[in-house]
Amino acid sequence: MNRETFIAMQQITVTSPLLPNLDEFHEMLQQIWDSKWITNNGSFHKQLEAALADYLKVPYVSLFTNGTLPLLTAMQALRITGEVITTPYSFVATTHSIWWNGCKPVFVDIDPKTGNIDPEKIEAAITPKTTAIMPVHVYGKPCDTGRIQQIADTYGLKVIYDAAHAFGVEVNGESILNAGDMSTLSFHATKVYNTIEGGAMIMHDEATKRRVDDLKNFGFHGEVTVVAPGINSKMDEMRAAYGLLNLRQVDKAIEARHQVAIKYREALRPVEGITFFDDMPGVRHNYSYFPIFVDAERYGMTRDELYAKMKDNGILSRRYFYPLISDFSTYRGLESARPDNLPNAHKMADSVICLPMHHALSQEDVERTLECVVK
Ligand SMILES: *Cc1c(COP(=O)(O)O)cnc(C)c1O
Repeated sequence: MNRETFIAMQQITVTSPLLPNLDEFHEMLQQIWDSKWITNNGSFHKQLEAALADYLKVPYVSLFTNGTLPLLTAMQALRITGEVITTPYSFVATTHSIWWNGCKPVFVDIDPKTGNIDPEKIEAAITPKTTAIMPVHVYGKPCDTGRIQQIADTYGLKVIYDAAHAFGVEVNGESILNAGDMSTLSFHATKVYNTIEGGAMIMHDEATKRRVDDLKNFGFHGEVTVVAPGINSKMDEMRAAYGLLNLRQVDKAIEARHQVAIKYREALRPVEGITFFDDMPGVRHNYSYFPIFVDAERYGMTRDELYAKMKDNGILSRRYFYPLISDFSTYRGLESARPDNLPNAHKMADSVICLPMHHALSQEDVERTLECVVK
């Protein structure tokens, strides 16, 4: 076997989907086949909403068919207009949801200590047209939700958290998903918890839950009344069943990720020019990603050189989040997208590599990855 073939066979990917037991899934599929109820708020859909509310310690959950549609729908539900303050350091869906609602995204720089929007820079970006803030708990690290709420209350703004990375994250025993007016989750295959494609919105009261359930079903309220220009973003029974099974094993998966993080940190702490995040006190993390930051001068190699070296060795790390959303063609003409407005975000985007991080990494995978980074 030549080197290329060997490496292709031994590839270590940045993530790997958590898959339910196939026999158990088949049993549930049989139930769906028997009932012939395959979508539209079926039995597994109801069970999964209840089970997630319980697991996540939140009052109301509305399931969606992916993690982008709850962002779009949250803005519709709250009737957001004008300008929305957000972070450029995220997956592009965050800003796209603002654009699809006909609103203008206004980028604010991040705090280099967390990668999250810097609350102290929000006020300067508020104009009479601002109606909402859309922060992201990037890598599952909690935003300063207290400070953000204070600003929102002072200026009469709504807060929608893109919590796509923050499944199961708690601060002092309380779910981070209870912050703001709404939070959204993604259950995409690449996330800590997945339903293949899927997502959810978290809200705090029953009236909002009912409104959102209407919005995700074309705006139907009952059989013959349409109360809003809704959309179709319902989750089907197969994926709800799959989700119920995955929920039973997600804690084990998070613990496996935690063990990988411990090994990475131990080996990388002494490495000159490589930094990473430590756990925050009082926070239950989900270890959704393991970003490292390369200081080219001190490390003796640029971020992209290290990225290429890893790739050559069959280790498929990813540069999340590079490029910044504000650098994509749709957004780079915006005043707030100017690089001198976003120095911390640029610095982070230019130095980040996310190492392989998932529940199924073996000791050998971790060692091979570390061998590449620790020189
Ligand atoms: C994954 C992700 C989304 C989109 O979720 P999908 O389920 O892929 O639509 C939105 N925001 C962030 C920050 C994400 O990482």
